[in-house]
Amino acid sequence: MRRILIQHGTLLSFGKPCRVLEGHEVLVEGDRIAAIAPAGRAPGPFAEVLDATGMVVMPGLINAHMHFYSTFARGFTPAAPSKDFTEVLRNLWWRLDKALTLEDARTSALVMALEAVRHGCTTLVDHHASPGAVEGSLDAVAGAVKEAGIRACLCYEVSDRDGKAVRDAGLAENARFVRRCRDERDPQLRALFGLHAAFTLSDESLDLAAGMARDLATGFHIHLAEAESDQAHSLTEHGERVVPRLRRHGILGPGTLAAHGVHLMAPEMAELAETGATVATNPQSNLNNAVGIADLVGLRRAGVPVALGTDAMTVDMLEEARVALWAQHRRQDDASAGWGVVTESLTVENPRLASRLWGFPLGTLEAGAAADLILVPYDPPTPMDEGNALGHLLFGISQARVDTTVCGGRVLMKGRNLCLNLDEAGLAERSRDLARQLWRRL
Ligand SMILES: [Zn+2]
Repeated sequence: MRRILIQHGTLLSFGKPCRVLEGHEVLVEGDRIAAIAPAGRAPGPFAEVLDATGMVVMPGLINAHMHFYSTFARGFTPAAPSKDFTEVLRNLWWRLDKALTLEDARTSALVMALEAVRHGCTTLVDHHASPGAVEGSLDAVAGAVKEAGIRACLCYEVSDRDGKAVRDAGLAENARFVRRCRDERDPQLRALFGLHAAFTLSDESLDLAAGMARDLATGFHIHLAEAESDQAHSLTEHGERVVPRLRRHGILGPGTLAAHGVHLMAPEMAELAETGATVATNPQSNLNNAVGIADLVGLRRAGVPVALGTDAMTVDMLEEARVALWAQHRRQDDASAGWGVVTESLTVENPRLASRLWGFPLGTLEAGAAADLILVPYDPPTPMDEGNALGHLLFGISQARVDTTVCGGRVLMKGRNLCLNLDEAGLAERSRDLARQLWRRL
């Protein structure tokens, strides 16, 4: 079995408490962490020794809500000005995703996956849409994930916005990919059943999806109460708010990941907590779309697990965590509110979510956990210990650039150079070419 030793670093365990260990080494065997031991205890030989002098060693970061397909929106200017969230969807995202080909889906994902490697993000929970090329789209995205060496949990976002045939293709794509993941047990790939959002799904579609997911014993990945318009639509069309409606149709449960949860009233948060579903908050996206700031303190008080995603605004999880904190201060009108829920979303809930999806420990530095690790240059200018490690993480470590990324015991980046045998310049050129073609089709 291939053995790697990581020595001379300061270890940050994540989890609660986030332990800080000096004078320890990480021994990796195959795709798992075999031991965290005092320096010099692990007997050689090693296939590779990583010197983490002057660096912190911590678990690979996890992104709980992502859209790989959004790559080609970067710099797309002809989108009409959008005054609210509905117009953002109509003017940009629903035009763009409809025009995506399978090659676009694969290339978008590869570009983002490599950015994730560079930012030390080794696991992403993605939500994919390409209504013009549904069948096989998750395989296309999965191909990119495989090539980049990271892990991703994929799903296809089913909706009624393009008619029954496309909806049915989306349902089938989810079912097919869930089965593929079950059959292959590839440690890089997992699946959820994807749904766009309550306001683009009829009762009939929700029931079809619930039946299929029940048979497959899988949870859902859905956008929930992102904008107030989701609630307004639900009340007008269905006579009830989003959480009770989705719950009644069997969409909410312990295996379900609900992105956003910005517009939830206290009774709805309590009901959501009863279902056991996890909310993935995406503060940068919410601020960008001017939909509001989720009440993370309220969600936590209600007992809803809060994970952290980026909604494809970035793959830099530390940047997202910082914005989550500033936004929560503003939301609660209290400059010290939200610290616990924000830091734990990144270091406790994201690892818990990923560990549940993958079926083995992810996102934590401990024996038996996945060997997903990053090395970040950081020589703390003030004392760092278990009591303040998360303060160093958000205010200091976040400002450094990740040096080394390891996923599943495979070194993907070292000394900031990708070790993937990939033509990066060629990929960027191909991506620009595909984007140009896509923009022309729009
Ligand atoms: Zn999203």
